[in-house]
Amino acid sequence: MASGSNQPIIDVAVVGGGVIGMLSALELSKRGLRVALYDAGESPASWAGGGILSPLFPWQFSPAANALCVNVARDYLNLSDQIRSIGGPDPEVEERGMLVLTSDSDKDVSAWAVRHSRRMSRQDWQGELGWWMPGVATVRNSRLLKGLRLLLAHHHVSIVASAVRSYRSDSNGVTLRTDDGSVRCGQVVLAAGWHTKALLPDEFGEALFPAKGQMLMFDGAGCALPHVVLAESGYLIPRKDGRIIAGSTLEKGCADTMPTLAAKKKLETVAFMLLPALKEARQCAHWAGVRPGCIRDVPIIDVIDEWQRVWVSTGHYRYGLTAAPGSARLLAQRMCQESPDENVVVSAYSSPFSSPGSSDSFCKR
Ligand SMILES: Cc1cc2nc3c(=O)[nH]c(=O)nc-3n(C[C@H](O)[C@H](O)[C@H](O)COP(=O)(O)OP(=O)(O)OC[C@H]3O[C@@H](n4cnc5c(N)ncnc54)[C@H](O)[C@@H]3O)c2cc1C
Repeated sequence: MASGSNQPIIDVAVVGGGVIGMLSALELSKRGLRVALYDAGESPASWAGGGILSPLFPWQFSPAANALCVNVARDYLNLSDQIRSIGGPDPEVEERGMLVLTSDSDKDVSAWAVRHSRRMSRQDWQGELGWWMPGVATVRNSRLLKGLRLLLAHHHVSIVASAVRSYRSDSNGVTLRTDDGSVRCGQVVLAAGWHTKALLPDEFGEALFPAKGQMLMFDGAGCALPHVVLAESGYLIPRKDGRIIAGSTLEKGCADTMPTLAAKKKLETVAFMLLPALKEARQCAHWAGVRPGCIRDVPIIDVIDEWQRVWVSTGHYRYGLTAAPGSARLLAQRMCQESPDENVVVSAYSSPFSSPGSSDSFCKR
């Protein structure tokens, strides 16, 4: 892959092997481009995430955030079919629905449901009335990531285990400096999760921050959890094998992946409040990941250099798994000069300082 000449031998280099980088690479390769994906081997947030395929309390999010999440269950069911058809692991996409316990006004929730043509109704959970959202799906991230690697290989995307340290674009292409030497490509996509901050000019990077999150897994034996339950203090997610995951902490500014005792206690409190039977269940894992936090609820998906060769897709914060298919499509549509999906306003995803774009409630959180 290394090249000393000035002629690009790959069309697009994608930097980052989380869900955003991998789905971006897939969309670009499906459009006939020669794509290589560079990954530094850092623990990705995409592996640590819970896998709920909906923004948490979606009515609190801006139209631009919601626009990336339309039909996400269908997108993941399609991906799951593609992965399984090439002999990959089942990513366990399940549409079990989500019950949301919230003090948000009925008016706000109902208005969102009408605007997005979503059927919602009231349903009881442990004596408390919540909003039932049928059709909300979940995915098992670890299996998804393994499957996406296979799918990329199937689409002839080369995956290079090397960190990209810097890049320089000119009228003919981009030169990347990686841990293994320099590489020439036509365009580059920076999608390295919260690490993208270090690769961006200040006017973009200043909008990004790390936001650690921790999860606690129970074996779930003897506990019935038919669907996701979301409350303001946290959530529970059922897995196909009967395990139950409690999430998640939000530790803004923290960039380490070390699980802590304080977080474990916090997650136990949430879990036992939402499903008291979990007090008797065995805890089988506790882990942490670092989200690519952004000062608004909309990621940055934009071109950032004068030659139109350096693209960025990051800042997906707490809903990157959910927004990944929509974000990858938008990026590829823009790079290939296609029209965006309906209701997607391209300018909403440019630098946060030129397009704040967030809902008021997000900014207050
Ligand atoms: C605890 C927790 C729970 C979550 N739950 C959910 C949920 O239920 N639903 C949801 O939608 N979202 C959830 N999220 C958020 C979601 O996981 C993230 O928004 C999303 O995974 C971000 O994906 P990414 O590809 O941008 O970054 P990452 O997944 O972090 O991937 C970044 C990749 O870039 C690579 N990299 C870094 N630097 C370089 C470099 N210099 N060169 C090359 N490669 C590099 C790393 O090795 C890594 O593989 C959760 C996150 C956490 C932490």
